[in-house]
Order: sequence, then C-alpha cells, then structure tokens
Amino acid sequence: MELNRKIRDLKPYDPITGTYAIRLDANESFVPLPMALQEEIQEKAASLAFNRYPDPTAAALCRSFAAYYDVPARLVTAGNGSDELISILCTAFLMRGETILTLEPDFSMYRFYGSLAEAACISLKKGESLKIDVDEVIHQAREHQAKLIIFSNPCNPTSLGLERDEVRRLIQSVSALVVLDEAYMDFWDQSLLGEVEEYDNLVILRTCSKAFGMAAIRLGFAVANPVLTNALRAVKSPYNVNALTQAIGEVVLREKDSVNKAISDILRSRDELYAQICQLEQEFPRAFHVYPTCTNFVLLKCARAKELYRVLLQRGIAVRFMEDYLRITAGSATENRTLLDNLREQVPALFPAV
Ligand SMILES: *Cc1c(COP(=O)(O)O)cnc(C)c1O
Repeated sequence: MELNRKIRDLKPYDPITGTYAIRLDANESFVPLPMALQEEIQEKAASLAFNRYPDPTAAALCRSFAAYYDVPARLVTAGNGSDELISILCTAFLMRGETILTLEPDFSMYRFYGSLAEAACISLKKGESLKIDVDEVIHQAREHQAKLIIFSNPCNPTSLGLERDEVRRLIQSVSALVVLDEAYMDFWDQSLLGEVEEYDNLVILRTCSKAFGMAAIRLGFAVANPVLTNALRAVKSPYNVNALTQAIGEVVLREKDSVNKAISDILRSRDELYAQICQLEQEFPRAFHVYPTCTNFVLLKCARAKELYRVLLQRGIAVRFMEDYLRITAGSATENRTLLDNLREQVPALFPAV
C-alpha cells in the first residue's frame, strides 16, 4: 500500500539520541522533586486501582490546577502533555483547508499538527529582532482569513515575551481562535489566565513539563471559556490522561511553595547564565549575539553555530542546534559552569581575533 501525501515524508520525532552528561537541549527543569514529594508519589502509585480506567474528566486534577492558578475549574481541560491539546485543537477546531497562522521561529509542533489536520499553514516570519509584530499578525490573519492563530508567549525558541497589552490587542482584533501557548509563563508575569473568560476566541495552554519539572508524566492544560471548554472535552479521547499522571499531577500542583522555590532556583540559574554569556558576547562580539530572555533558556545567534554545537556535544554537553541559533537551557550551577568553561575555551578557537 502507499502512504498518503501528508504522512509519506514524515520522520519519527528524534530528539538528540545518545547519552550526554549535561542536557541543556530540551528546556527541562534541573531541579529534582523534594524527597517528601517523591515518597508521597510512590505511596499514591502503590495504591492505584490499576485495573480501572482513569477519571475521563480528570476532575480532581483540574481542580488542583484551578486552585494553583486561581482560575475556575470549569474552564480547565487536562491533556496528555500540551502537545496532545495542540493536536486536538488543530484537528478538531479546523476544517480541512482552513487556515492556521503560525509565526517563525516558534514551537515547531504547531505546523506539524496543522498539516496533519490538512489545514492551510501560513507562517509569518519574524524579523531580525525576533519580536512579534502584532500589527503584521493582525494584518495576515485578516488577509488569509485565518481560523486559528497559535504562538508561544514567552516564545520558544526566541526566549522573548510579548506584553499582555499587545496580546490582548491581538486577540481583540481577529476573529480567529487564538491559541496562546504559555508553556514558559511560570517564568514571567504577563499571563492572560485571569481574563480568559472575557474572550470568546482564546484558549490558553499550560504545561507541567517546564517549571514544574514534570516532563516525564506528560501533563498539560487548556483554559478557555465554557463554550470552547465543552467542545474540547467533547473531542478529546476519553481517557487521555492516565491515572498515574492524574495522581502525580494532583500531588505536585498542591505544592505551591516547592514549585515557587524551584522557579526561583531556575530563574537564578538563568540570570547567571545570561549574564555570563553577555559578558562573553562583549569580548567576542563577532561570535554571537544573545537575546534577552523571559524563559528558562537563552538563545544565541551564532556565526558558527554548527561547529560550536558539535564541539559541545563531543564534550558531553547537549544544547539545541537550530540553523543559525543555539538554544541553551539553564542548568544547575555545575552544569552552567561546565558549559561556560567550554564556551570560553572554544569561542576564541572558532573566532580568532583578526
Ligand atoms: C515544552 C513546550 C511545550 C510542552 O509540551 P508538553 O507536551 O506539555 O510537554 C509546549 N509548548 C511549547 C512552546 C514548549 O516549548
């Protein structure tokens, strides 16, 4: 048989394979779960009814999320990672041939799910500053009669954030459904979660994979007004969030203090990494440029990105390579130091003074 056109050339998702001592390539958290929490999770796991299907609405979990962020639980839908929610939004909220507007660079999964949904994907290139030009987004959305606009804020991979006022202006100026992916908003303070009910065209996505340090359990959330939430709940697969994940998610979302502590540790690490790289940029201005960040990673525009990426890999340090850019996740103090020592050693070799 022949594979159809939309899947014929796809390759399985392939993050960096191989083992590297230092993983700064996936924006994961470096902060381990407190011991007491790990023990609580083990107890929960041991007492699960493994023969039973999980709660299809993940009601208790959604209540924990709602309490954590102070939003009404009736606006919350849980997903098997926010990835699943992006997939559901693209396949169910778009008819074949309808337009999805994405920005570039941005999270690559948006276009992937858009094309699986047989949507027409329009991608708007960001300029040299990598900032989002809201007027241009509004213009393109109208021009192409976009049905869905999706972008991350703060943005992966640019690490830049769009101020709340600008996001509001965008949502209010388009008829498209705006999917606002706030995967990194735990590291910044411009969330629209508190006003999601004021819009009939807004879905906000959050994830436990970054600030919460829970990438392994695959847990994300969508927050939207009741009409959109009912539709989301109706089209998701019934048991999309497994019982173990529901149980663990509830435990972790109850621990606001330890999550806040983790976030401040991550921000301290990020600030230190950013400051050191800025200093290196001043010494070697031809080598790279680092963008301001409101996330747990930094983005470098780098003249010899591929070479630098390769040398770092050889030394057991994985960062994310993206054409002319390197994206580096903030790690533990030791990880950051090893990375910076290696940069200090390699950058002069790759960029000899003329
Ligand atoms: C990491 C990330 C996610 C999280 O996806 P999960 O499926 O919840 O792990 C979503 N959006 C962006 C922009 C991300 O960087």
